[in-house]
Amino acid sequence: MKSKRQLNQSSTNSRKVNFRDGKKRLQTIAKKGEALGTCATFNEKYLCCRVHVLRSVHNCPFECSYCFLQNYLTDGSTKIVDDIDTLIHEVENKVSAEPGRLFRIGTWELGDSLALEKESGQAAKLIHFFSGLKNAVLELKTKSDCVDSLLSLDHRGKTVISWSLNAASVIKNDEQRTAPLGHRLSAMQRVFRAGYPVGLHFDPMIFHEGWQEGYASLVQRVFETVPPERTAWISIGSLRFNPEMRKKIENNYPDSRLTCAEMVLGDDAKVRYVKPLRVSMYRHLYGELKKHVPQGILIYLCMERWDVWDKVFGYHPDTAGHLDYLFAKSLYERYSIGDIAPTRNDYE
Ligand code: SF4
Repeated sequence: MKSKRQLNQSSTNSRKVNFRDGKKRLQTIAKKGEALGTCATFNEKYLCCRVHVLRSVHNCPFECSYCFLQNYLTDGSTKIVDDIDTLIHEVENKVSAEPGRLFRIGTWELGDSLALEKESGQAAKLIHFFSGLKNAVLELKTKSDCVDSLLSLDHRGKTVISWSLNAASVIKNDEQRTAPLGHRLSAMQRVFRAGYPVGLHFDPMIFHEGWQEGYASLVQRVFETVPPERTAWISIGSLRFNPEMRKKIENNYPDSRLTCAEMVLGDDAKVRYVKPLRVSMYRHLYGELKKHVPQGILIYLCMERWDVWDKVFGYHPDTAGHLDYLFAKSLYERYSIGDIAPTRNDYE
């Protein structure tokens, strides 16, 4: 990748600018401090999946009206860590210290894993590196269709390419500049044909007129595209954001209806739809998924409590560690990922 570091290291550094300005300026940076950590939404009062995140991209060219980045990354640029070797070194150190457990590591916490792949080539390098790791799997999560440069790589099944999916009308109204649903599905099919496991994230589910039909049709279209047994994991979540985001959303996306719904403040300082509505949305989606998805594929809720799991699935994992173990077990049994059969003690 040609270095844009000097090219774009402009005077935007400390100025607070409109969040949209930062989506237009691409800057490569060196890794600063620790890039690998636990997902920032981890909270002991909710059942978290304990995925790890590699902060290798900061900001995103897309414009989802619910995106927390509009309230978080406002220094006027999009940054990509270009010294991949130092990222790799950090991952190697971390995963080799706990050889008995499987690490799921995603690059999507502060941006989209693939939206800038044409410019950076970062994901391809990470896929190559993870293909040789015994106890880690990479997750690249996207709302793009930028997959063609990845199709011929020797990934050895150690990278899951995931899509964040939503009802077509939500994509149109609240996920501006992302790939339309048909493009995402066509990219998903290419990735599946190239042998990658596919991850599905129905998150954030958004309450809107016709949501039942919208999500039922979405599930139908997904499984017309990829066989459900090729799915590595499936998450379900609903709209949530920090209360101070409400004004940002209304100012930045005045046509969005996101902030019209009744929402309640949770222990993690985020607002969500009221519980009966969330449960009814999750049950509906889960019911649609169960028409297609065989036993053994892990379906989980993102940032929900134990009682909501019970209401939706009729069971709950005991702890975040238990859920982490269930991922490892499912991946080991279905894809032989993880080298050795996982034992629960290694995850508590
Ligand atoms: S794709 Fe993700 S990171 Fe990008 S704007 Fe949408 S929510 Fe934000």
